[in-house]
Amino acid sequence: MILIDGRKVAAEIRASLVEKIKNHKQKPAIVFILVGEDPGSQAYVRMKKKAALEIGVISHVLELPHETEEEALLEKIRAYNEDETIDGILVQQPLPKHIDSEKIVNAVLPEKDVDGFHPTNLGKLLIGQEDGFISCTPLGVLRLLEYYKIPIAGQHVVIVGRSNIVGKPLAALLVQKKPHLNATVTICHSRTKDLKSICLQGDILIAAIGRAGFIKKDMVKKGATVIDVGISRIASPNEPPQIVGDVDFEGVKEVASAMTPVPRGVGPMTIAMLMENTISSFLRRQKTYD
Ligand code: NDP
Repeated sequence: MILIDGRKVAAEIRASLVEKIKNHKQKPAIVFILVGEDPGSQAYVRMKKKAALEIGVISHVLELPHETEEEALLEKIRAYNEDETIDGILVQQPLPKHIDSEKIVNAVLPEKDVDGFHPTNLGKLLIGQEDGFISCTPLGVLRLLEYYKIPIAGQHVVIVGRSNIVGKPLAALLVQKKPHLNATVTICHSRTKDLKSICLQGDILIAAIGRAGFIKKDMVKKGATVIDVGISRIASPNEPPQIVGDVDFEGVKEVASAMTPVPRGVGPMTIAMLMENTISSFLRRQKTYD
């Protein structure tokens, strides 16, 4: 069984990104907007900021209190949209309940939407137009498959999970009519009938569910590649919380030919792709202003 090492691949990608910008006088810049004091969100922003610092991307963090009004947040986004020194705007999700997150996603200028969540970027992905941004987790999964030379074209990819940030964009990406893609994709969700028999058909099985250890050995085709996007924190008394994925790693490793661990699988790739998108935005914008 090949262990797909997301941490290693992400480190190589970050090193190549340093090369891409090293001869530029100006540096790319991203702003992270954090509303409220959710510890999980704070930790994610810290990790993203660390990655930015490491590769020479300037990062600003705008921390706003939980009770920030939606209009005040929109006002900040509009200001960053107009600020020519900012290449990427990331509003950390989830947002407090009184803020309409759809409105917020729509307010970010698509050209600075390095998360790839804006409907314009999702639409571009759907029709295969390459001047948008592909959301970071789907792009990270694709890069892992490419790095390990796992065939995609003609393969049956089964994705469990249909969110707008993982399952759906990942399906749209892998099904593209392009020589290195061309997958046959099935998307499953909580209303899927006979999930197990569909999972068993996957040459590549991708779990993006958010349920610890949900994918068991008897759901995986022998020799399949298994990609685990899920992240769950398991708390047990007197022990630090454990991070686990959607795949029962110990069982599934007996049948899979390649698989990602959690942590150190898809997670580091998501952050590396965020940096890649930010640098692409910077390079595109440099061209526009030259
Ligand atoms: P969502 O909660 O938005 O989506 C979960 C999906 O799983 C839904 O489509 C849901 O179906 C489906 N699902 C839930 N229960 C079942 C079930 N019993 N059988 C089949 N399908 C089921 O989650 P996200 O897509 O945002 O994230 C998924 C996981 O990936 C989470 O653990 C998240 O933390 C992690 N994640 C990891 C990232 C990384 O970088 N590694 C980045 C982003 C997310 P339905 O639509 O019917 O409700």
